[in-house]
Amino acid sequence: MFSFRKISFLFSIFLLITLPLTSVRAQDGGQGKPPDGTSTIHVVQRGENLFRIAQQYGTTVEAIAQANNITDTRFIEVGQRLLIPNVQVDTPGVTTTYVVQPGESLRTIALKYHSTLDSLATLNDITQPTTLYAGQTITVRQGSDGIEPLTDAGLYVVQAGDTIYRLAAKFGVSIGDIAVVNDWSLPTRTLWPGEWVVIPNHPQAGPFVELPDFLSDFHIQTVPVIQGESIGLRFTLRQPMQVTGTFIDRPINLDMDTTDPNTPTLNMGGVIGVHAFTTPGVYPLTLIFTDANGVVSTYQVRVSVLDGGYSQENIDVPDERQDLLDSATVQGELDKVIAVVSGNSPIRYFGDLLALPAPGSVTSAFGTRRTYADSTTLSFHGGADFGGAVGTPIYAPAGGVVVLAEQLNVRGNAVIIDHGWGVYTGYWHMSELFVEVGQAVNKGLPIGALGNTGLSTGAHLHWEMWVGGVQVNPIQWAQQTFP
Ligand SMILES: [Zn+2]
Repeated sequence: MFSFRKISFLFSIFLLITLPLTSVRAQDGGQGKPPDGTSTIHVVQRGENLFRIAQQYGTTVEAIAQANNITDTRFIEVGQRLLIPNVQVDTPGVTTTYVVQPGESLRTIALKYHSTLDSLATLNDITQPTTLYAGQTITVRQGSDGIEPLTDAGLYVVQAGDTIYRLAAKFGVSIGDIAVVNDWSLPTRTLWPGEWVVIPNHPQAGPFVELPDFLSDFHIQTVPVIQGESIGLRFTLRQPMQVTGTFIDRPINLDMDTTDPNTPTLNMGGVIGVHAFTTPGVYPLTLIFTDANGVVSTYQVRVSVLDGGYSQENIDVPDERQDLLDSATVQGELDKVIAVVSGNSPIRYFGDLLALPAPGSVTSAFGTRRTYADSTTLSFHGGADFGGAVGTPIYAPAGGVVVLAEQLNVRGNAVIIDHGWGVYTGYWHMSELFVEVGQAVNKGLPIGALGNTGLSTGAHLHWEMWVGGVQVNPIQWAQQTFP
């Protein structure tokens, strides 16, 4: 990758800086520390400050200050020549693609990339910035004014009572550094509640997202989401509030996450199941917050749902089991299952990756579009099938409480476990059941044995998952944690 062209470029920089180096050092009385490696001279332009110049060259304010004997880093003059030590040659101004993250707006992306809302909108032909959605790919010009993105900065939202002195002390950053990175002409200015302050080198100051003032934190995963998969939500309130939500005409189960004893009433979370037949597109996810005084606020993020690329198959049903396809039997049993999996227990038993419930391989994936026998009715495979010998133990993939353990017509010997927060897993066609309703189970406990009972055309475990009353791909939960 180290082409001749790059060598000659570096070489020409080296040649260029040889002469000015001497003059600068003479001007400084020769006290500047001789630089290591490649150096260059930068002539200060209007609107620049040391922080931005340091970012542009991939060095630090301290390194430039030391090389130029600058004692007060806030004051540099237009036209001033600065020795920039140890230059990292890069390509500012190069356009690159950027995937919009949940909660980000054109304004926060502009801040992150040291660009402006106008130039980002122009670059992407965006006339309505509010139409931006998580998962959207946009073009950004890395440092449109020659500045690298603020990869290690944080975006702090000023709270009542904050002062610039308090922020400097809180994050251990100098007032001068905060002033330059925020383009303030005077560092001793008044801060207004709700105002954004970029804190250099402190990502923990806050994410570059545009949040309403009653939220201090908001995370959503995984977006864009695939049809038939799950979305996790986690957010922190600034004060206790009642929260409800909807996504694609379904209510969202939201619960308190009491795992942090310091803020037991402020951390909330939930998981959302996206139906396997959802038409791909961008959908609003709406949360409604009601404070202690009855004041109602709404926060909405736009979530992109992608096509799952599911395949299609026809299932032949043996004659002796045809009667099981009787629509009343099928519907009655489905209604029973739906009633069981439509709850929302406030205690969350999941957190780690789910374990797979059977040792065999997946013989039929979730989501495959299916027609049964000669019927033209399109359904989809609502779980993942595991092959194996009759009698193979089936294990609980996570902790929970057994809410169904009985023989059903279509599903055969069946178990459903409630994992809390509206998350349920089901196990069908088993030869034996090892648990009973009401029993608490831990991850890894044998709950039954693999079989061929009910509407099954061979020994297998059908493992399915319901999130907020929607059947989702359980395998996703073995690959990532929620929420
Ligand atoms: Zn199945």
